[in-house]
Amino acid sequence: MIPLQDARSYVLDRVDRLGAVSVALTDAAGLVLSDPVVAHELVPPFANTAMDGFAVVAADTADAPVTLEVTGTVAAGAAATRPLKPGQAMRIMTGAPMPEGADAVVMVERTCYDPENSRVDVEVAVGEGNHVRGAGEDVKPGDELFAPGTVLGAGHLGVLASVGLSAVRVHRRPVVGVLSTGDELVDDPRPLQPGEIRDSNRRTLLTMLDESGMEPVDLGIARDNEADIAEAFTGGAARCDAILSSGGVSMGAFDYVKVVLDSLGDMRWMQIAIKPAKPFAFGLIGTTPVFGLPGNPVSSMVSYELLARPALRRMAGHECIDRPVRRAVSEEPFGRHDDGKTHFARVTGGPDETGRWHIRKLSGQGSHQLTAMARADALAIIPDGTEIAAGDEVEIIPVGTVVE
Ligand code: AMP
Ligand code: MG
Repeated sequence: MIPLQDARSYVLDRVDRLGAVSVALTDAAGLVLSDPVVAHELVPPFANTAMDGFAVVAADTADAPVTLEVTGTVAAGAAATRPLKPGQAMRIMTGAPMPEGADAVVMVERTCYDPENSRVDVEVAVGEGNHVRGAGEDVKPGDELFAPGTVLGAGHLGVLASVGLSAVRVHRRPVVGVLSTGDELVDDPRPLQPGEIRDSNRRTLLTMLDESGMEPVDLGIARDNEADIAEAFTGGAARCDAILSSGGVSMGAFDYVKVVLDSLGDMRWMQIAIKPAKPFAFGLIGTTPVFGLPGNPVSSMVSYELLARPALRRMAGHECIDRPVRRAVSEEPFGRHDDGKTHFARVTGGPDETGRWHIRKLSGQGSHQLTAMARADALAIIPDGTEIAAGDEVEIIPVGTVVE
């Protein structure tokens, strides 16, 4: 058995960031910038008011209260048709451009408007620039807005929209094929025949890819014979940036995935010192990374989390490829025997009001018992030989939907 860190390094040493492409802002959320984004426009594009009120010449208000002549109204989206002269004011709405000659805004709450006589009483003196948002206060042409490596979120995309960009250069989203292998697998709702089981791995892996921001491709089921498996991998490698297969990588007589991948690519077969997810294969068909995940449903998910997800995130250009590891208080003992492996136990729990996580072990810890994995809020990392007593601290990897 090899340590998890060795398996991880082996994989990460053999994957590269995908090349840069131009992507419409509508498709760019979660992608990683490949090039700096430079602005070519001012934001705001013109000086405008931050408040509903009256545009004035600040000096006119020095002896407030004062009465000014109201010469018009400027709404957002319009431009003032005439300049403002001393002694005058214009009604102005939030976001509307400042009329020429005006240099301050008095908020409506500090005025008394007399529309009949086109007059306004200004109750307070305001300084130059009061409630005025200057042109370019947020962004100026030539500003580098975001550096390569930035993961595009809602705020970033809003900024890009604010400077009139409709596309952006990012690392390509990895297209990842998912293949199930096994003669026993059924993927339609018909009653099961003796020996058959339903294919669950494809659904979980396609969904995990989606949640990781990848573009999943369903490569279907390959049966336990060399021709079927070879065709599925060759076809998948031609259309995908990476392939995840599940099953056929352990010691069984019909585990042809090993045989086929050895003939198609440069593969390494590993027994990793972890439980679940001990068997694992990684290699390249041409330049396409192939992750041979174990068939047991929990194992394939844990293997994805620990080995495939970080590598695929690296391909997508992410600098941060791992989920954060946190410390948690175990509410109950975790018995375990020495087996040379690090255990990843499925646990439930979450943070208390101070933010400290508390966890309990879920029942059904077998690698075939997918329900506990589905219900898990985290994987607890239990090192070899360590008995955990109630109240002890353990490291956990949150994997569920609990939000802190
Ligand atoms: P294998 O590594 O092919 O021997 O598979 C290990 C275990 O996982 C066996 O019990 C398989 O039936 C099961 N298994 C393999 N592939 C899947 C799948 N796609 N969905 C659910 N169980 C699977
Ligand atoms: Mg099998």
